[in-house]
Amino acid sequence: MTRKLPIIAVATAPGRAGIGVIRISGPNLLQIAKALFQRALEPRQANLLTLRDGAGAVIDQVIAIYFSTPASFTGEDVLELQCHGGPQLLELVMKRCLELGKDQGLVIAEPGEFSLRAYLNNKIDLAQAEAIADLIDAQSEAAVRGAARSLQGAFSNDINSLIEEITQLRILVESTLDFPEEEIEFLENAQARERLATVMSKLHALREGAKQGKILRDGIQLVLAGAPNVGKSSLLNRLAGEDVAIVTPIAGTTRDRVKESITINGVPMHIIDTAGLRDTSDLVEAKGIERSWEAIRTADLVVFLQDPRSPDEAEIASTLELKAQILKALPPKCPVLEVSNKSDLLGGSKTNHSNNQALLISAKTGDGIDALKLKILELVGWGGSQEGAIVARRRHLDCLDRAATHLEKSQIFAADGNISLELFAEELRLAQDQLGQITGKLLPDDLLGKIFSQFCIGK
Ligand code: GDP
Ligand code: ZN
Repeated sequence: MTRKLPIIAVATAPGRAGIGVIRISGPNLLQIAKALFQRALEPRQANLLTLRDGAGAVIDQVIAIYFSTPASFTGEDVLELQCHGGPQLLELVMKRCLELGKDQGLVIAEPGEFSLRAYLNNKIDLAQAEAIADLIDAQSEAAVRGAARSLQGAFSNDINSLIEEITQLRILVESTLDFPEEEIEFLENAQARERLATVMSKLHALREGAKQGKILRDGIQLVLAGAPNVGKSSLLNRLAGEDVAIVTPIAGTTRDRVKESITINGVPMHIIDTAGLRDTSDLVEAKGIERSWEAIRTADLVVFLQDPRSPDEAEIASTLELKAQILKALPPKCPVLEVSNKSDLLGGSKTNHSNNQALLISAKTGDGIDALKLKILELVGWGGSQEGAIVARRRHLDCLDRAATHLEKSQIFAADGNISLELFAEELRLAQDQLGQITGKLLPDDLLGKIFSQFCIGK
């Protein structure tokens, strides 16, 4: 997975822009810089230089900045070329660099390779490397702030201090292993159980934070279901309209016809309007519908919208059918929220005849929308506070879950009548391993490669 050759890539987004940055990282970049500009570069100085092709014709005026190892993003020598931001121009600059860097073995970087090198050179840990990708992909302001905090090490520091506490406990336990008759005494003297309980409650808090962090990173998959004309589109517009930020689709993905992304109180929501779920012979549409069903299978919440005024029989029947279909497809613990729309048409009574459990709203007047938003956030487990939030991934949650399981087991082996210090220590070690996988220590190479390969080129 690791190679020592210098690598090059365009670091800025594809397309036209005022400036485009090309980044080179690797050993002995000064030689390449010299070949490019016929002069030596001082580290950390902006140099306005002219880049020429083989025939001496000017390609571009660039600002070149050289960072000398180890004081760079990757920990290697890094050369950054700020060019004008035209795709053809950047292509030409790349070509020229590859030509002149040939002797040094300069090659085009693989996706995530800059971050991978930063990780391998201990510039950042794995959770921080992931936070770089999450910062770039962030879908709301809160997600940006969370990713920035993770990148600064907020998440990693908590993980590391937990690992440290478990280490201390392990040292204690393992030093007693040779004296089995003193096990009970040891546990009491060392306050091992109390310390384990503290570790467990810290892990629990960390997990809660990571759960929020996953919501910030991935957003919530919300299915909006209901009969035609109950007001699904109106509700979507109302939810989107009040929260100004309509999330743009992540680069590389096209916007779904049936999937809208908005934010509710800063939390990204991907809303699947089941109006798109009708049978169709159109192939493109059919693909979209299949994707909707996939999304429903991983939904976090379903909002069932209905008209509280008595609808006709046929409509009730077809709604129930769709409802049954969706309920069958949902993941096991997915909550379902019943909502009655068009409260403004109910007159003075404000009673909901068809379903008195349902939350009453009006997409038209905005009545009840704030309560609906709060209910949605509550049902998906959003704690409401973005203060100190981090971003987290499924991978992190899985590791935290497994760590918790091991700690619970270790607790069992510290319980009276069941004491086994050996197993106690072993479960502590396994919990520690899981935490270590979050920051990358002890993560198998193939998994590491998989994580970085999901980054985009130039990152
Ligand atoms: P959809 O088919 O479920 O997406 O429903 P639409 O959002 O297209 O709405 C159908 C009709 O109901 C439109 O004429 C809307 O203006 C109207 N409508 C939607 N919500 C409300 C509401 O809260 N009050 C009233 N009076 N009309 C509504
Ligand atoms: Zn609609």
